[in-house]
Amino acid sequence: MRLLSIRTAVLVVLTILFLLGVGVFFVRYVQQGHLWAHHPTNRHYFTGGKIKTLGTVYDRAGRVLLQMTEDGLKYNENKTIRTALMHAVGDEDGNVATSALVAFRERLTGWNRISGAYRFGSGQRNEQELILTLDADLCAKAYQELNGRKGAVGVYNYRTGEILCMVSSPSFDPQAPPADLDPEKYEGVFLNRFFSAAYTPGSIFKLVTAAAALEQLEEIATAEYLCQGRMEIGGEKVTCMTAHGKVTLKEALAYSCNIAFAHIALELGAERLQEYANQVGFNAALVVDDIKTAQGKFDVTKAGGADLAWAGIGQYTNTANPLNFMAFMGAIANKGVRVTPTILKNKGPLSILGGREKKQILAPETAAELAAMMRNNTLTSYGEENFKGLELAAKSGTAEVGGGKRPHAWFAGFLAREDYPLAFVVIIENGGVGSRTAAKVAANVLQYAVN
Ligand SMILES: [Zn+2]
Repeated sequence: MRLLSIRTAVLVVLTILFLLGVGVFFVRYVQQGHLWAHHPTNRHYFTGGKIKTLGTVYDRAGRVLLQMTEDGLKYNENKTIRTALMHAVGDEDGNVATSALVAFRERLTGWNRISGAYRFGSGQRNEQELILTLDADLCAKAYQELNGRKGAVGVYNYRTGEILCMVSSPSFDPQAPPADLDPEKYEGVFLNRFFSAAYTPGSIFKLVTAAAALEQLEEIATAEYLCQGRMEIGGEKVTCMTAHGKVTLKEALAYSCNIAFAHIALELGAERLQEYANQVGFNAALVVDDIKTAQGKFDVTKAGGADLAWAGIGQYTNTANPLNFMAFMGAIANKGVRVTPTILKNKGPLSILGGREKKQILAPETAAELAAMMRNNTLTSYGEENFKGLELAAKSGTAEVGGGKRPHAWFAGFLAREDYPLAFVVIIENGGVGSRTAAKVAANVLQYAVN
């Protein structure tokens, strides 16, 4: 009797262990099955580590960006399009994490959790189609406008979330990859800077400080700040390009007056500035069709005095991710509602995350006031004649990066046009003055988009 109960106990324990094992396997299969199936040693999908499946990637107009054939990968016939879209489509070796070839592998191979690599029915191997929201010609134009400079350009529809233009430079022709990736020329070439980089924002961050000021400082509508070209805070200097004299918030934004924004940042205090930075998307990633962006950082918990002032001007330890910042621009244009950008036009049943997600990140009145001030920037500072017909609302940034290097050039904003509800961002690494270099790229790309 005693022996029997020991045997029973052992059997029960073994059964529980077995069921636990099955349970663990099942959970891990659901969570990670796609990774197992797409391991480069799986000969269903890979030959010698290179993806081998039959499928096609299109742009929004139905142009073929990539065809996966029995003989390997065949990209678009136009070299500029191939190069401009390398980060969107991917290289043969799968080095770009945000590319379709890597991020949307499951959709391209047709793998799913129920049937695995098996396709029901016969002769269905060539069915996998991926349609991106991108406009190949617009991407090519943006790539040409960067003209070899490092950086990124993004344009999206702030109502639907569709990304029309996404370019990261440097890039290369994936049909004929360079044999030798020169480390200076091709620095970070596999990084999609639009998705995965973060840079010191400089003055484009003044939009965040302005948003906080509009809601938190009671007298802001009539307040005037005196800029004498420099000020001292606790023995440290904050400087401006020139002495702007007495300026309102609206004027301070149009002239990008550092001194006025230093005063405003100090008046707001670290806590409130931190709150608004978080609210509009800093210290968080966006999920774009299952692809996570890099985070912009803003942390003034230990900052006071001149550090806090510089933080409110977009310097200090701030960084901004281009895609996230573009989405913030879209929210200003869209009555404070941020539509999460999306890059997949045919989402399919697998997509549960990202895309079309909407979030009110600013009060509608605040967004409207910011939008009006950004429109005023163009009229009084950037010159309407440089952006004819675009109804452009924007903010430039010239972010000091130290080390004797030229500043990063930013230009970000949106078109206040019903027919073209587009928000955009341009960043040129060490590109100099944002309102000149980055603004020119934006002007040419946006004119191309509306014409
Ligand atoms: Zn000033």
